[in-house]
Amino acid sequence: MTDQQLCHCGAPARDAVLCVSCAYKLDDAIQQISRYQGLGYDLDVAMSRQARINRRPGRPKAEDRDERFAPGTLQPQPLPYDPHVSVAAAEVRRLLRILAVDVIAHETRADLPTDQSVTGLAAWIRPRVGWLRHHHRAPEYLDIALEAARVARRAVDRPAELLFAGPCDECGEDMYAHPAAAYVECTHCDLVYEVTDRRAWLLRSAEDTLATTTEIARAISAYGQPLTPEAIRGYVHRGMLIPHGTRNVGRKTVPLYRLGDVLDLLAARAAKEGKATA
Ligand SMILES: [Zn+2]
Ligand SMILES: [Zn+2]
Repeated sequence: MTDQQLCHCGAPARDAVLCVSCAYKLDDAIQQISRYQGLGYDLDVAMSRQARINRRPGRPKAEDRDERFAPGTLQPQPLPYDPHVSVAAAEVRRLLRILAVDVIAHETRADLPTDQSVTGLAAWIRPRVGWLRHHHRAPEYLDIALEAARVARRAVDRPAELLFAGPCDECGEDMYAHPAAAYVECTHCDLVYEVTDRRAWLLRSAEDTLATTTEIARAISAYGQPLTPEAIRGYVHRGMLIPHGTRNVGRKTVPLYRLGDVLDLLAARAAKEGKATA
């Protein structure tokens, strides 16, 4: 060690690898994720809150354009959550695991963090940031921490009301539209789609999905027209809608209905009221 060791940013680092200012940035990035109601908490909330319809993982193939005939292509999740948020959360967790498990636990032989959630990992790393600061690869670890905080922030800063508009026909990229928008543009290939068409396509492709009244109401409200779970239960009471199975939710067993059956009832009602649209 020389007398005047320099941080990668050029500032004097004294006896550490990172200078005081870079060490602060590292600590701050981790605590933004770990703190009470911080980014880790926001990710959890964002994941459990959003109503959406989920596409099977992977890019759709060209011959899958008419996937409405393939049941289960788009299905409301048992616990609806935002697909982008869950991808981001997995990435944040991967980055934090590099610091916690691959570096700190590996090199200090510390016990692995028991809670390996995003918040749990960050909370475990935080008191060990001082140790990271002295590691010869500290600048790299600072980048990882900053990237983790950045990915988390970008995910939770997304407007919650953005609506999944399905994959682009051309490139397969998922598109998101503002609920009030008439058009949605693929950010990849600049193709423009009508949002109403996309919503109708998404709902039709989810026809064979079995879901609870709450999930169906949420999906149809988001992608079609406002609809309450009570309205769906009203159809059940009048014998117009029959369950196709059950699911255990906690200690309760709840009936599942076919989303397409509810759409048919709504279409029939709209036709009767003379409000059917093409
Ligand atoms: Zn520095
Ligand atoms: Zn595209």
